[in-house]
Amino acid sequence: MVAYLDLLDGLSHAGLSRNAEVSVKLSAIGQALPEVGPKMAEENARRICRAARNAGTTVTLDMEDHTTTDSTLATLRELRKDFPETGAVVQAYLYRTEQDCRALAHEGSRVRLCKGAYKEPEEVAYQDRHDVDKSYVRCLKVLMAGEGYPMVATHDPRLVRIASALATRNGRMPGTYEFQMLYGIRGEEQKRLADAGEKVRVYLPYGQEWYGYLMRRLAERPQNLTFFLRSLISQK
Ligand SMILES: Cc1cc2nc3c(=O)[nH]c(=O)nc-3n(C[C@H](O)[C@H](O)[C@H](O)COP(=O)(O)OP(=O)(O)OC[C@H]3O[C@@H](n4cnc5c(N)ncnc54)[C@H](O)[C@@H]3O)c2cc1C
Repeated sequence: MVAYLDLLDGLSHAGLSRNAEVSVKLSAIGQALPEVGPKMAEENARRICRAARNAGTTVTLDMEDHTTTDSTLATLRELRKDFPETGAVVQAYLYRTEQDCRALAHEGSRVRLCKGAYKEPEEVAYQDRHDVDKSYVRCLKVLMAGEGYPMVATHDPRLVRIASALATRNGRMPGTYEFQMLYGIRGEEQKRLADAGEKVRVYLPYGQEWYGYLMRRLAERPQNLTFFLRSLISQK
């Protein structure tokens, strides 16, 4: 919590806050505590949103495993009453996500679409990566055709191409949506997109807990290990 506020303060003093926004995991600010968790996370998130607004920037609520999806979206709805600029994240691997995209694709709504990083059961999520990709495209279609601000979080070259084509088809100019990639992964592609006039945002784990964060992501899903190893070998 303090780390988020310090970071926003530091960005503001360095004059960088307009170019950087903060992503917040509600589990890091109390969501998982029994009974009081969701309320506590909302109050803490509200403090971060206020600090972000004072610094001239915005907050996006990361999405975690499927047991937290309803609670996170409920917190988002409450926060958006006072901070409508707060961003949502949806995960294409969940069956529910196309429907969530329809609900979120309204004016002013910033929505990050990712494939999803957690090991999820087949009761709630596609297991086959081709099904996840197809779902990603369906969700992209909804978001790009909607009134909101899509944030296309993927390194998948095919999905990047499809996102660009859908943006053009829907008459969107660069800056009415953005691409997002992880720091250190496909740097050349990030540069290529930026050089082509696209808005590109890089997601950077911050603070002293980054090593634990990386290890948890790797432990949660073996594919994440492949993903990181591949990006160590290839920087394209
Ligand atoms: C900005 C951002 C925020 C995120 N936030 C969340 C979140 O809140 N919740 C969540 O669950 N997940 C989040 N994720 C993680 C996401 O869900 C995926 O686990 C992760 O991005 C990997 O999926 P991918 O779409 O990049 O495609 P993958 O299926 O992992 O990769 C697709 C293809 O991309 C290509 N590729 C990948 N890496 C390289 C490389 N180095 N060089 C060349 N080609 C490569 C390959 O062709 C590969 O087959 C986030 C990801 C990003 C980028």
